[in-house]
Amino acid sequence: MENKRKKLIAGNWKMNKTYDEAKALLTELSAVKNPPCDVAVCTPFLFIKEAAEILSGTGVLVGAQNMCDKESGAYTGEVSAAQLTSVGADCVIIGHSERRAYYGETDAGVNAKIKTALSHGLMPIVCVGESLEMRESGITGEHISIQVKLALSGISKEDITKVTIAYEPIWAIGTGKTATPEEAEEVCGLIRGVISSRYGADASERVRILYGGSMNAKNAAELLKKPDIDGGLIGGASLKSADFLKIVEAGKQ
Ligand code: PEP
Repeated sequence: MENKRKKLIAGNWKMNKTYDEAKALLTELSAVKNPPCDVAVCTPFLFIKEAAEILSGTGVLVGAQNMCDKESGAYTGEVSAAQLTSVGADCVIIGHSERRAYYGETDAGVNAKIKTALSHGLMPIVCVGESLEMRESGITGEHISIQVKLALSGISKEDITKVTIAYEPIWAIGTGKTATPEEAEEVCGLIRGVISSRYGADASERVRILYGGSMNAKNAAELLKKPDIDGGLIGGASLKSADFLKIVEAGKQ
């Protein structure tokens, strides 16, 4: 089937950069004009407005790394979807494994956040991934299928194509240990199969599935060549413009 998807390279800055450092990196990234693929930068909440201003006119999307599923009100410390769009956010990472591991995010919470993001026109980048123990026990496929099904529970056929999934094996995040292109392709293909069985082949061919986990300027091209890998979610290598822009270049396929 013809590939209907444009690649997306999304940076996840995590809890890095001070205000001045963030401005400097955003200014370097603003040199990007007409990128060869879709590009997004997910900064800490504090810098989203600045990012949207500095990157305006470049085509680079701006995003958050989390959000609250509730609309507004007494949720101390949380940030809403309406607040994110009001400062120029286009997308939001949901269910990153660090949030699941350190902040108790559940599959039900991830599902609620996806629905709220969609209702505000924010593109959710939904993370799923297995631990090393799961991989070694041979249950990667089952685990990923369940995570994807729970994340997408109640999402309509119309909305599914607005969702981006990021396959991020936990053992590969921030470790320098990348999944091989074959390993990554196998799981991204499996995710597409899960979407196809629920929403049909045509919808599944329109959903972007990224790989994330120690993707860098050296290994990006090989990973991005795989037919079911539609881009990358990049942590460490998104913190230096030269590295990130090389990965963006590798997205030209
Ligand atoms: C991530 O945090 O989403 C990620 C993929 O990190 P890294 O690229 O540093 O492994």
